[in-house]
Amino acid sequence: MTSTLDQLRRLSPILEPGQAGFEAYLNDRSVWTEPAAPLAVALPESTAQVSAVVAWCAEHGLPVIPRGAGSGVSGGATARAGSVVVSVERMDQILEIDQAKRQVRVQPGLINADLRRVVEPMGLFYPPDPASLAESSIGGNIATNAGGLFCLKYGVTRDYVISLEVVIGTGEVLRLRREVSKDVMGYDLASLVVGSEGTLGIVTEATLRLIPLPSDPVATVMGRFDAMEPVGRAIEGLFQAGLDPIALEFVDPIFMDAVARYNQTAPTAALDGPADPDSSVGPDGSDGPGRAGAVRTSVLIAQIAMTWPLDDPANQGRKTETVFRQAGARTVEWSASEAEADRLMADRRLCFTALSAEGPTVSEDVSVPRTELGRLLVAIERVADRHGLVIGTMGHAGDGNLHPCIPIPPGPDGDARAQAAFEDIMRQAILLGGSVTGEHGVGLLKAEAMRQALGPTQMALHRAIKAAFDPAGILNPGKMLA
Ligand SMILES: Cc1cc2nc3c(=O)[nH]c(=O)nc-3n(C[C@H](O)[C@H](O)[C@H](O)COP(=O)(O)OP(=O)(O)OC[C@H]3O[C@@H](n4cnc5c(N)ncnc54)[C@H](O)[C@@H]3O)c2cc1C
Repeated sequence: MTSTLDQLRRLSPILEPGQAGFEAYLNDRSVWTEPAAPLAVALPESTAQVSAVVAWCAEHGLPVIPRGAGSGVSGGATARAGSVVVSVERMDQILEIDQAKRQVRVQPGLINADLRRVVEPMGLFYPPDPASLAESSIGGNIATNAGGLFCLKYGVTRDYVISLEVVIGTGEVLRLRREVSKDVMGYDLASLVVGSEGTLGIVTEATLRLIPLPSDPVATVMGRFDAMEPVGRAIEGLFQAGLDPIALEFVDPIFMDAVARYNQTAPTAALDGPADPDSSVGPDGSDGPGRAGAVRTSVLIAQIAMTWPLDDPANQGRKTETVFRQAGARTVEWSASEAEADRLMADRRLCFTALSAEGPTVSEDVSVPRTELGRLLVAIERVADRHGLVIGTMGHAGDGNLHPCIPIPPGPDGDARAQAAFEDIMRQAILLGGSVTGEHGVGLLKAEAMRQALGPTQMALHRAIKAAFDPAGILNPGKMLA
């Protein structure tokens, strides 16, 4: 054992079992995943060190667990026994910013928000904005093809990857795609790596596209709805009316109340509806989330920006208001100021953090065609009733991507009930023509659901692709491919 660790130590800085900080690398933020002790955690500081560690693992048949910032929620970075966790957190530099080309070359451990902070004063913008942007890494974002609030307008991480440097399962270093806008030379291997959750290679460098910093949103319109069907109608209506919001987010009363408790304030004034006496009891008869003081209306928040053709933004705001009202909104309000709109979006980003601060909570992440969103919301309510659970739902309504979140109830069967609901929601999404994950990834938690949804032929193709990148099968084994 000692000589094995000595060999590894010669290739890269490492942390060994028992050393301070070691435990922090065993899991991500998922529930229901059980990490087992890895042999060591490698903390490489260069592509050469990543390559050497992976080649050494391939030679010794040791599993490699690629790791960014560990903010994943599906068990993608969960360690397994005898593996080597390869955390790229020390490779966190911006290597080059090219303003003329509007692109940036970065190392994978760079935190998303730090990239934005550096390029924004130059009038440039990196749009992919997971709610975890202050803590998640660019490498992790690429490996999960992370999305976020403004992906409705600007697209997801894949849309901003120009080229990648990747260490594949043999330890070889590949540069995937050229730094050109147009390139149809061969299969698009870079796109395969995006969203591959560390199963095809470790991203050691990325060249990313930037766009001119957009103007701030000029109107934020909020509709409050008493039921889920009108929410679905409003979402469809917005797009039918030709509107082009940059973000269209949904928050249900359970989350609004949780955020208010987290902030220790009253629910955001602009969203504050009259308390409903029925809200004193949650759907399962408990006094958990959904208890006294809860606002019983759901909220759709649409942010409007200047778009082409240049329409008066106020006019677009008024059109949005009309659509919300015609769909059956109880009330429609405009944010009184930009600061208030920013606070609303910040509260939206806080949703999961606020609910999970109250107890173990599992976040679902399903997506359906936008036109099916109303039906999905109704189906989630039925799932909650069927399993006697509280389920808070929020998400990217404009993308048809929702995050129903299940606080795990206390008691011996709490996990089993929550897990049954988790799977039930994935089944509902598939029935509506959707996917079991829109942006959080498959990891360990959804590998079986993906296998069932894709069927044997597509799974065989996935395995063949993995074998081509990773012949020894050492890269994140057991993740994504059940
Ligand atoms: C509060 C909260 C809010 C969130 N909101 C969103 C959201 O809005 N949108 C969204 O998409 N996700 C969201 N997430 C999930 C998570 O933050 C994203 O999946 C993020 O992209 C993970 O990045 P990370 O650096 O933490 O990666 P990790 O958790 O460390 O790893 C994630 C996966 O990527 C692999 N990986 C990591 N780095 C590399 C690399 N360099 N090369 C190859 N593989 C690698 C890992 O093996 C693992 O499979 C949220 C999570 C939390 C806790």
